[in-house]
Amino acid sequence: MVIPVIKNTYVVLGYGRSGRESEKHLLAQGYDVIVCDDAQQKTLDINWTEITAVVQSPGISPSHPLSLVAKTAGVSICTDLDLLQKRSPMAKYIGITGTNGKSTTTALIGHILKQAGLKVEVGGNIGVPALSLKNLDENGWYVLELSSYQLELSNDLNLDIAVWVNISPDHLDRHGTIENYVNAKKRIFNHAKWVCIAVDDGHSKKVSAELTIPHKTVASEFKNYPADIWIDAVGMLHNEGALFNCNELETLKGAHNWQNVALAFAATNHVLNSPQEIWEHIQTFPGLAHRQQLVTKIGTIEFINDSKATNADACEKALKTYMGQNIFWILGGVAKTDGIDLLKPYFPYIKKAYLIGEAQDRFANTLKDTVVFEKCPSLDVAVSKARVDAMVEEDAVVLLSPACASFDQFRDYEHRGEEFIQIVRKISL
Ligand code: ADP
Repeated sequence: MVIPVIKNTYVVLGYGRSGRESEKHLLAQGYDVIVCDDAQQKTLDINWTEITAVVQSPGISPSHPLSLVAKTAGVSICTDLDLLQKRSPMAKYIGITGTNGKSTTTALIGHILKQAGLKVEVGGNIGVPALSLKNLDENGWYVLELSSYQLELSNDLNLDIAVWVNISPDHLDRHGTIENYVNAKKRIFNHAKWVCIAVDDGHSKKVSAELTIPHKTVASEFKNYPADIWIDAVGMLHNEGALFNCNELETLKGAHNWQNVALAFAATNHVLNSPQEIWEHIQTFPGLAHRQQLVTKIGTIEFINDSKATNADACEKALKTYMGQNIFWILGGVAKTDGIDLLKPYFPYIKKAYLIGEAQDRFANTLKDTVVFEKCPSLDVAVSKARVDAMVEEDAVVLLSPACASFDQFRDYEHRGEEFIQIVRKISL
């Protein structure tokens, strides 16, 4: 007689914020939990026949040895998002993915739905682990930012609405090719009921053309009209004959933000069917820290914290926003594969650049002959120098928009942005 194995144990692979929440949740559900984290150097002898699944942190590669051993043993890999959907199966789910603009779009959708009086929880890649969100019933909405890493590892995400922002090359160190990156992101559609997708870039246009799920297209650049919802060259949002003026949006400046606005508008209108009300809520959005955030003005110099611009594409948006002013640009850190070549058209608008971190020599090479630059040993030094130089200019902006990851000098982009804010506050006293 074959005795069935009662599987009652999960392996939590990766013990960061989401891993700890997963452990807490599983223990509360009565499961045994084995935690495995490289940082703690645990080597574990696991009896895989007893394991229900591995809950893997998105930061850990699918080719991690333990993950591979689990798969070979026939054990499934999942994420905290899968556990959230099991925990709160009746709630509604909106997932947002894309290369840039995910957090802004996620926060904006959350804001609109909350203002409309719905029960809403916002989390995921935005920095709030999915399992730390409150339990919601069929009247509640989870609004989840989803990275390519999370989508690659999650199994059965059932989204009521999937939102696709854009694609540009990013995270190629993990995904290998742009095709793999796009394919990981496309998993957002696996069980989605309805989609809204921006079609401003070539990859997204192709993805949109292949969609068989009911969807609405969004275009935020005039050249890409027609789409169901679109923003014209002077910033008017067009929706079924109604017009809304994006130039009124104080906390969502620039065409890139208007892409986020158009998507949030489309997604929330699918829920609320009330365009005028939605527009009023968009106008009260407070904005997000570290994204073109005005820290302070010292005299006429604006200090802008755009620490979240971890790649050239995001940084381009900031340079575009401020190119009418004298830009004193602080950049550097751990460069992405494509470096900053994409930003060359903006170099004539840069008064001076201040290079920090690992990418200094590489960026110096790209800037040389076109932009005056200085290598700085720290962010502190870069800010002080930029401030002194900016003082002699009219209409100056000291812009931290690094076009790089932060982990050579900081814990993460938030740490880098907070440091910038502290340094600026100190010098403004
Ligand atoms: P994500 O969560 O995808 O990283 P964020 O909303 O945090 O996106 O914005 C990150 C950076 O990208 C910011 O510096 C911002 O200026 C820029 N950005 C925001 N929205 C967009 C967009 N739709 N397209 C391109 N860049 C954007």
